[in-house]
Amino acid sequence: MAVGAGRYAPSPTGLLHAGNLRTAMAAWASARAKGLRFLMRIEDIDRPRCRPELEARQLRDLGELGIDWDGEPVRQGDRIDIYTNYFLRLRKAGDVYPCFCSRRDVAEALSAPHGPSTTGYPGTCAAMSPDEAASRIAAGGQHCWRIRVAAAPKEFHDHFLGSVPIDLEKDGGDFVIRRADGLFSYQFACAVDDALTGVTEVVRADDLLNSGLRQSWILRCLNLPVPAYHHIPLMHGGEGRRLAKRENSDDLRGILSRGITMEQFRSALAASLGQCDRGASISMEELAVRWDWHRVPRSAAVWL
Ligand code: GLU
Repeated sequence: MAVGAGRYAPSPTGLLHAGNLRTAMAAWASARAKGLRFLMRIEDIDRPRCRPELEARQLRDLGELGIDWDGEPVRQGDRIDIYTNYFLRLRKAGDVYPCFCSRRDVAEALSAPHGPSTTGYPGTCAAMSPDEAASRIAAGGQHCWRIRVAAAPKEFHDHFLGSVPIDLEKDGGDFVIRRADGLFSYQFACAVDDALTGVTEVVRADDLLNSGLRQSWILRCLNLPVPAYHHIPLMHGGEGRRLAKRENSDDLRGILSRGITMEQFRSALAASLGQCDRGASISMEELAVRWDWHRVPRSAAVWL
């Protein structure tokens, strides 16, 4: 088996819809076609939003589609010590700083006349002295932790989309990697997990394109390997409707209850990924042999 791994990383916040299953299929087939391992990771880092009972349903739906994975799924909730350890490295290096601003402070700073021109965090706490920060923390000041992005590259290399200009300073500014409630952010946990679990390629929908540069920046600051990111166009519902995890009708059960067979569904997803003709039938085994990145469409797919 080749060295490296692909992965799928669902958050148990809703049922997987056709678009999620399509991304999982692409990630799985791309990895298997190269002989890579395929890992499953439950992204339950944002505890308050997760519904643990959905985890089993998500894994069952993925399995029924024909996606298999190596080893037990990794659960982010079990890895808090690891995130803490890597967070402390960033803290020691001065790559992150505590931010005491409330949402309102940030909004007011941005709307002030002659205020900073960024659309995100204006950097209010970035230059606070370590002594002042320490005394505010000691006094119980509510704070999150932000990573500095001034030195981040201004373009992102995506292995599917090519070079994409993204200026993190203008698009969001220094971003939160640890929230005021102590929870680590998706960006941080996801980046650290991909690197530490040996993931070498990430395939996901392009609504997470901006996360690619954020995550690769976190990994560069930590001196960890950066995976090859592939962001593929999202799949929309009919009439341009965005598929939402919370809408039950778009989940596997809902789709099969409309009289579509699993084989038809699987083949329709593969066709939407350019891997077979519409109406043709393809098995997961064939897909894993035939997978061809050059055939993946560059525009959004529509799911009716
Ligand atoms: N957990 C994220 C989601 O379910 C996906 C993260 C990723 O693929 O990087 O939307």
